[in-house]
Amino acid sequence: MTNPLLDFSDLPRFDAFSPDHVAPALDELLARSRAALAACAAPDAPLTWEALVAPLEDATEQLGRAWGIASHLNGVADSAQLRATYNAQLPRIVQFWTEVAQHEGLFTRYQALAEAPVFATLSAERRRVIEHALRDFRLGGASLVSPARERFARIQEREAELAQRFSEHVLDATNAFTLEIEDAAELAGFPADALEAAQAEAKRRGTKGYLLTLQQPTVVAVMQYADRRELRERIYRANATRASLDAAAPAEEAARIELDNAPVIDELLALRAEHAALLGYPNYAAVSLVPKMAESAQQVTAFLRDLAQRARPFAERDRAELERFARDELGLDPLQAWDLSYASEKLRESRYAFSGQEVRRYFQLPRVLEGLFGLVEKLFGVRIAPDQAPVWHPDVRFHRIERDGALVGQFYLDLYARGDKRPGAWMDDARARRRRGPGVQSPVAYLTCNFQPPPAGQSALLTHDDVTTLFHEFGHGLHHLLTRVDELAISGITGVEWDAVELPSQFLENFCWEWEIVRAMSAHVDTGEALPRALFDRMLAAKNFQSGLQTLRQVEFALFDMLLHGEFDPAGGRSVQDLLDAVRAEVAVFVPPRFNRFQNSFSHIFGGGYAAGYYGYKWAEVLSADAYAAFEEAGAAPEADRRLAETGERFLMEILSTGGSRPAIDSFRAFRGRSPDLAALLRHNGMVENPGRNHADV
Ligand SMILES: [Zn+2]
Repeated sequence: MTNPLLDFSDLPRFDAFSPDHVAPALDELLARSRAALAACAAPDAPLTWEALVAPLEDATEQLGRAWGIASHLNGVADSAQLRATYNAQLPRIVQFWTEVAQHEGLFTRYQALAEAPVFATLSAERRRVIEHALRDFRLGGASLVSPARERFARIQEREAELAQRFSEHVLDATNAFTLEIEDAAELAGFPADALEAAQAEAKRRGTKGYLLTLQQPTVVAVMQYADRRELRERIYRANATRASLDAAAPAEEAARIELDNAPVIDELLALRAEHAALLGYPNYAAVSLVPKMAESAQQVTAFLRDLAQRARPFAERDRAELERFARDELGLDPLQAWDLSYASEKLRESRYAFSGQEVRRYFQLPRVLEGLFGLVEKLFGVRIAPDQAPVWHPDVRFHRIERDGALVGQFYLDLYARGDKRPGAWMDDARARRRRGPGVQSPVAYLTCNFQPPPAGQSALLTHDDVTTLFHEFGHGLHHLLTRVDELAISGITGVEWDAVELPSQFLENFCWEWEIVRAMSAHVDTGEALPRALFDRMLAAKNFQSGLQTLRQVEFALFDMLLHGEFDPAGGRSVQDLLDAVRAEVAVFVPPRFNRFQNSFSHIFGGGYAAGYYGYKWAEVLSADAYAAFEEAGAAPEADRRLAETGERFLMEILSTGGSRPAIDSFRAFRGRSPDLAALLRHNGMVENPGRNHADV
């Protein structure tokens, strides 16, 4: 065997990989997968797991692993040749998965299996895999009959086109705006790096002085730091009216109409309502929630309104403080929408100023990893040790996790930023756990971050945000690696509800705000001393700065999204703007100006996959905070060590190891002994009544 992408005997052979291997490997693996698909879907195949499910799963697992290597390298070791290969091959993969999802014959066979007496003899895990598959077939329109079937296919195509158009309009409208500034005095207050960036932008476009755009870093710099109020207003207005007829961009009338997203939103909403009706659901929110943990739009809106009500007193207090500070210290009265970030930044600096660079000198990567691994070993009864594997870059490290001396899983750590690496941080699976005959295939994960690399011969230093990111991704990694589920389609994070999948990652982040943990994993690069407690307290207070206002802002977006897809009637008399106005009147503490057209650039729900799903951010935070509170309770109890170990074991057994094998709410209840509760999140965000102590005093 000469093509390393066709070698599935062990770990990926990064040392032998070349982009030339990709196309021939896919030729082979796609052919095998299509043959398996035909065999599984054949009307005369026996109604058994072995005949209907296993062959396709085996073939597509190999396809997924081989393509996963190319796709991983495309993200972390980009080259012109690999990129060209990747882009050329991607449509073949997408095409194949569309074939599977829309395969009428396969759907019919799965249905027959689910209705046959043999179904009851399958393991609970296998029954769940079949049920998930049937659910996804139905959501994809597989159970519709002509002409609804053709209409549904047309709707799906058009929805995809409109989502793409929405995003393009936002992008084009963003790029259509520029503001030339000749005199640096106009940019008073700008930090040096933002000033440099504006100058570089002017140079790049052949103009003099400075050039401001609506790219997010520029908008943030202006809103937070520009001392000139007129400049802030101008950029605010341009940003808040993107892709609308009210656009403040100096574009031609025709261009404004061309880029207006209002008609795109209207058509999308009408199509989504029809999409839901064809599938037999009362509205699009109900469709969106089928594969999610939340049970109904009513449950979500009740959750959001409850959160809003509890956050409200804190948001009101945040507003009063901000208004007082802005009036007394900055002479801004009344506060306008374009003053909020600016005044908030000044208030934050005056209260909690600390140097992120100074904090960074306390977090040396080896010590942080030691702290993280030690914590995980203690909580979950595992051992983490260095291991050997072929890698794609000399900086990449490889480790194994063992429990009771047996291999549980392995992971790659690729932590430093490089020119050939996609920005951001993520966890991806290289291989998933599954039972194979008498043995088990152990899972393997990629953990990728983009930390600043160390100077030669020294340890890398991490900001506290970096440390949190590392813990977050490691939480995803543990979810993938510590699974005990035997079936590929529901092991690790596969098959976990989308609004519950951030539970383990956000859960682990909490430990970065635990004083004992932080103390143990910090050591100043010069003196070796732990982070001072007073500095830590300041960081903690800064983290919760304006958490009331921020919570209400998230609730405003999420409630608008859920009501829009759950209750709003596109054919009724109210407009989308009317609904947004009503939500703001109900929730917002600072109501945006009338010209604000936020919805026209709300890409999450109109250009991405978050329709009736934006609530998921807060939802998952509630779960992770509440799960973490179980550890806080254990740590505060007598015999803390024993109680913590017990709680860790229960978290491992009920949440980390169960994957998609049962509903996330069942896993949560099994761990916590009750339903999720908001209290822990509010407490972690500093939103608790504590009249004896003003948080300005810390
Ligand atoms: Zn995450």
